[in-house]
Amino acid sequence: MNGTIRVGNLFNIPFYIHPSWFLILGLVTWSYGSGLAAQFPYLGSGVATLLGLMTALLLFASVLAHELGHSFVALSQSIDVKSITLFIFGGLASLEKESKTPASAFWVAIAGPLVSLLLFSIFTVIGFGASATGPFAAILAVLATVNLSLALFNLIPGLPLDGGNILKAIVWKITGNPYKGVVFAGRVGQIFGWVAIASGLIPLLLFGSFANSWNLLIGYFLLQNAGNASRVATLQQQLTGLTAADAVTPDSPIVNANLSLREFADEQILNGQYRRFLVTGAEGELLGAVSVDSLRAVPTALWSETQISEVMRPIEASTTVQSDKSLLDVVQLLEQQKLSALAVIRDNGVLLGILEKASVINLLQKRMQTNPA
Ligand SMILES: [Zn+2]
Repeated sequence: MNGTIRVGNLFNIPFYIHPSWFLILGLVTWSYGSGLAAQFPYLGSGVATLLGLMTALLLFASVLAHELGHSFVALSQSIDVKSITLFIFGGLASLEKESKTPASAFWVAIAGPLVSLLLFSIFTVIGFGASATGPFAAILAVLATVNLSLALFNLIPGLPLDGGNILKAIVWKITGNPYKGVVFAGRVGQIFGWVAIASGLIPLLLFGSFANSWNLLIGYFLLQNAGNASRVATLQQQLTGLTAADAVTPDSPIVNANLSLREFADEQILNGQYRRFLVTGAEGELLGAVSVDSLRAVPTALWSETQISEVMRPIEASTTVQSDKSLLDVVQLLEQQKLSALAVIRDNGVLLGILEKASVINLLQKRMQTNPA
């Protein structure tokens, strides 16, 4: 998320706050503070504001506990939690990858609402058990209500909400296809998004009432994220079944190791598109890489008698990939390693060619046109 502020680490998870959250903190402090001051005039406005701030911070802790619920279950499945961010609509735990099975995805999704329900019960039990009165009871009631709403709102069965992830896991379990789950839960999320927008817009248009205008924002947020989730899933589905070999550039920049630099220079001029070439041996096996710039290190007079093999450099294993590797894994590899191209190698070590990020995108665009989701 843009503009977030890193606050520190929680259980080794980087913890961020979006500036919009401070707005909520201020609003909540003010509204609860003034509410308490009106209800219990003997408190005085200073103490009431302080109690308001305390309530706001406890709400903040409740949202955080909800996100930690998701995070701990993810960590128990060996899924890294990249960050936890608090923002205007609540919290977000960003996970490094998806759960492997529908059941484990279900538990990650439901853990947050379960924590919120647990907190709701705890605050309710304390409220009744201690037969609390006065401001203490009022604060407990607020905390209980907010945690209950947090659980119920998040259980709405549309992506990007937790309920959407639960629905996704269920559809995944039934169909055996995780992408169908995402697309379905994404569509439901879009429906809820439109419902939220309508519920905000209709009173506004008919009665000029801004009472539900908050729903407009929530609806917009739901629509945007639900649409993204479906798009990503569609993309992933298009990638499944394809391998690295399918995305190899037809005229990959490959030169033979025994070529002279003179021949290489001529070929390079004809094929001006590339600055870096993969070098292969007699059997087509990958030996290394050579860049056009390395020509400069050798005097022109020696170009005819110097072979590529004398100036080439070894290639790192991390920048090569087996030709039968799934394209989905390849795209993840490109992203993780921040690479723009990989060398694709067959089982027998023969170089097939290069795979460029751009050609994966082209391939996808072609497939999307031929079989739109
Ligand atoms: Zn959640």
